[in-house]
Amino acid sequence: EDIISHAVEAPKDKLLGGLLADEFDEGSCLSRFQSVLFRKAAPHKPSSYLVSRLRRYESLHRRCGAYTESYNRTLEQLKSGQSTGTTDCNYVVWISFSGLGNRILTLASAFLYALLTNRVLLVDRGTDMTDLFCEPFPGASWLLPLEFPLNQFSSFNQEHPHCYGNMLKNNVINSSTGSVPPFLYLHLVHDYNDHDKLFFCDQDQSLFQKVPWLIMKTDNYFVPSLFLVPSFEQELSNLFPNKETVFHHLGRYLFHPSNAVWGLITRYYQAYLSKADERVGIQIRVFDTDTGPFQHVLDQILSCSLREKVLPEVDVQKPIIRPSGNQRSIAILMTSLSSGYFEKVRNMYWEHPTVTGEVVSVYQPSHEEYQQAEKQMHNRKAWAEMYLLSLTDVLVTSSWSTFGYVAQGLGGLKPWILYKPENRTAPDPPCHRAMSMEPCFHAPPFYDCKAKSGVDTGALVPHVRHCEDMSWGLKLF
Ligand code: GDP
Repeated sequence: EDIISHAVEAPKDKLLGGLLADEFDEGSCLSRFQSVLFRKAAPHKPSSYLVSRLRRYESLHRRCGAYTESYNRTLEQLKSGQSTGTTDCNYVVWISFSGLGNRILTLASAFLYALLTNRVLLVDRGTDMTDLFCEPFPGASWLLPLEFPLNQFSSFNQEHPHCYGNMLKNNVINSSTGSVPPFLYLHLVHDYNDHDKLFFCDQDQSLFQKVPWLIMKTDNYFVPSLFLVPSFEQELSNLFPNKETVFHHLGRYLFHPSNAVWGLITRYYQAYLSKADERVGIQIRVFDTDTGPFQHVLDQILSCSLREKVLPEVDVQKPIIRPSGNQRSIAILMTSLSSGYFEKVRNMYWEHPTVTGEVVSVYQPSHEEYQQAEKQMHNRKAWAEMYLLSLTDVLVTSSWSTFGYVAQGLGGLKPWILYKPENRTAPDPPCHRAMSMEPCFHAPPFYDCKAKSGVDTGALVPHVRHCEDMSWGLKLF
């Protein structure tokens, strides 16, 4: 496909400070090489240790990836039901589960876990993983082979006989047992129980070292709690001297839009956003059983954007304002399942002049009305919109939304977060600035593994704190 054959090859840092391996064929995944043409130079450089660990991971993945000799040998253990305990390759299998924003965050979490535990990450392709993303690792696929023996992933739940929490509960395993099964299912979904949550304890982690296959299902960005596991602490601080860049770097390393999605992104960007002096992203996600649009949400968006000077004021008295000198142009990119908010904002800037003369254009790529998990173009557009939001200069996001977290993290942006409305009224203040660009872990454990008692895990270390948009969540600062 000839997507942007005439894109100017500026002498920019194509490999993102060494984050990306220099071994790929350009045509198979244009976004990997062209993203740098659309982004401002990133102020955050990956540590040289992270870069070296990624190269080391890539060679492990090549040596242990699907269909290699080591893979086949480890697979034999799985088929025989016997774990011999000694394997040179161990695996984390990530199950495709939940909305696209959630999946992007959980895949980054699973990859970091694989990196920390010297495991190889293999990805259940679900309905659309191959359609949305390029392969991130050179020379070896990250996709789990379709003929993988445990491919009935929907049967994995908390009652599964190999569910680690369930096995603990029924005393068929404990963290000092000698014998372990060849695979365990780790249930890290938001409804997980206290047994499942022992995943975040060192003792349990040391048991996992003997288990060649870990099958993981989650809908949460669980990285903040990995920073509270003592045995991972030192490695994590070597990998990420700046802790708020974990998803920023891992996201840019792992998630390259497929050519089909890259076409959606680049055509939209070039048609509507590239020429503006400033780009503002507004991501609206309303967690309400009714679809809206709602007046209180519109009021909140406007009061936040005007008060924080994200958007210019309009003059409702004057019919026209004569611009003095240069007219700055602002392009607003709005994303939402509904088109109501976009129409109101666009009309506001059509019906009234801005006080200071800026020219404001307002765009929304799609309004899909409701979440549709199984439709190919729907998820392509959702991914394209997250990515387009990440290309803006200033971002306003909705509370609790992983869709917004992906955009802020990839873009390296600290968004203005709209507080979650209660009882259909706009909160006052309407929003505040995020303290870091990291995603929020919505369902963290509150457990002290050593003391075996409850603890506020958001108060243990300065770099893991409660989230701005969810008081019980945890995020890195
Ligand atoms: P979250 O529910 O906000 O945390 O985000 P997810 O991405 O996990 O799930 C929401 C899903 O709803 C997305 O994956 C899309 O399928 C859809 N969706 C929500 N908001 C938008 C939007 O603004 N644009 C598009 N195209 N889809 C959206």
